[in-house]
Amino acid sequence: MRTSIIKGVIRIVLVFFVPVFLCLAPARVAGQYKHINVVADERMELISTIEMLAGQVMQRNSYTDSVAVYFAPYKKHAAVTLVKSMLNNSAYSGSSLVWYLYQFSFPALKPEGRFTEDENQVGNYEMHLDTLSLFRERLRDFYTKTGFHTFFLEHKGMYDSLCTPVSDYINKMAVAETVEAMFGGSKSSYSIVLAPLFKPGGIGIQTHKTSGDYVTIVIGPTASNPDALLFAPALLFQDFVLHELSHAFCDPFVHKFISMFNTDSCLSDTISHINTIVRQDYGGDWESCVAEHLARANEVVLCRKLLGDQIADQKLEQGYFKEKWLLLEGLVPILENDYLGNRIKYKTEGDLVPSIVDYFDEMRKNLCH
Ligand SMILES: [Zn+2]
Repeated sequence: MRTSIIKGVIRIVLVFFVPVFLCLAPARVAGQYKHINVVADERMELISTIEMLAGQVMQRNSYTDSVAVYFAPYKKHAAVTLVKSMLNNSAYSGSSLVWYLYQFSFPALKPEGRFTEDENQVGNYEMHLDTLSLFRERLRDFYTKTGFHTFFLEHKGMYDSLCTPVSDYINKMAVAETVEAMFGGSKSSYSIVLAPLFKPGGIGIQTHKTSGDYVTIVIGPTASNPDALLFAPALLFQDFVLHELSHAFCDPFVHKFISMFNTDSCLSDTISHINTIVRQDYGGDWESCVAEHLARANEVVLCRKLLGDQIADQKLEQGYFKEKWLLLEGLVPILENDYLGNRIKYKTEGDLVPSIVDYFDEMRKNLCH
């Protein structure tokens, strides 16, 4: 009697609770995770092609050769002339034109995103509205007159052959789930745009639409030469994707709480003195310095969760010892121990800011004189 009651209880547990548990457990089969889109994007090819015609130096390969041949008759198109002058203007430095284009629909180029002052990558934006409007108009004209869509479709096979290995690599892991659990937030979608004509490296862009926040990470080839055009999946995932995903979540709370971080802004002098990336790429700007440290610290933690200890430790070593991101030494343990060890207290990573500032205060006492 007693045995059958126990058996009955076990059966109830098996029948009712095991399926519930299985539903809650992370899926292990590829294809069941939240999908990360890996694509070649027509708007990225369009702006890169125009920049190439405007004289931007690209690493030569068979694709750049076919772009050069197909678009040779349009070298003097008004879009090319305009982009050439924009590239010589510091207001449009870096990847600001790419960032700008992702705030619009494509190919209509109608406004779609709502962006904030701190995200705007165009210098003195309000002063350049007329030029930017002309830029969109001429891009649309170039797109139509050159039959750009036909060129894009003709190369679909090549784009697919670049995207498929990257998509297979990334989508076999629970990337979005891990990132969202780490930060305590979510985005509407994540896209990785492989851009064969883009410079080596990656940029992260957020488009805030009424339907939600969309993250796009644009990545240039990991190798481009006459014999190969390559996007190495593991390399670009470790070096660019995790970094830009971290920025998408860190940057908003760094900006929101910058007045708290500013107590320790003297650290930027010490750091930019020893770290050439902070000095040259960010001019020692403290908000960028904090955001870059936090993105790198999160990269290490995400790497440990998704790729294991060895790669995470290599990344920490590279960031701390070789590139001299001085605050990583303390930030990584704060994330791994204080934060992940007490998620009841810290619902999101933004809740951790007071603890991060405490650590920066200590570093200020040691390093700022
Ligand atoms: Zn960064």
